[in-house]
Amino acid sequence: MVDYQKLLEIGRDLLIAIGEDPEREGIKETPRRFASYWREFIEHESGNIEVDFALSDTGQMVVVSGIKVWSLCEHHLLPFWCDISIGYIPGKRLLGLSKFARIANQFAHRPQIQERLVFEIAGEISRATNTEDVIVMGTGEHLCMKMRGVKSSGAMTTVSARGQLGTNANLRSEFMQIVGQNIRA
Ligand SMILES: [Zn+2]
Repeated sequence: MVDYQKLLEIGRDLLIAIGEDPEREGIKETPRRFASYWREFIEHESGNIEVDFALSDTGQMVVVSGIKVWSLCEHHLLPFWCDISIGYIPGKRLLGLSKFARIANQFAHRPQIQERLVFEIAGEISRATNTEDVIVMGTGEHLCMKMRGVKSSGAMTTVSARGQLGTNANLRSEFMQIVGQNIRA
């Protein structure tokens, strides 16, 4: 949980530190907005991910793509967005569709790096579905890259894979192919 009073102080101190007058009309309310933004972002409630399992043991790979999350680069505290695609081979537990976005958001709403974000999502999918065969791919654009330094507009892609999806090249390329089709569709 965040310390809201402390955030109010920091918002005010931040304005002072960058040479602004915190009493100026336009920014008088900025410390309050700043504190609310941080509280909403950090205390984001992803919802329950433990319910609505269906049973399945067809051994087919399930691919979910087009999940977009906003996160915060932990090096600069600037936002990055990330398109998440998830593939897994269910054991007996099939996860309800809405749960994937919840899991992704659960790990996005904190100071993060993209590599750890996809790694943690893969770990949670694996835990929740009780299968080792999981792959998570994220393609992100980072404001810290775009607005400062190199001002690059390039996207970064990171992949975390385990089980068969880590070792079986055919399964991996099947996943990549399906994701490509989903994105074009
Ligand atoms: Zn950064």
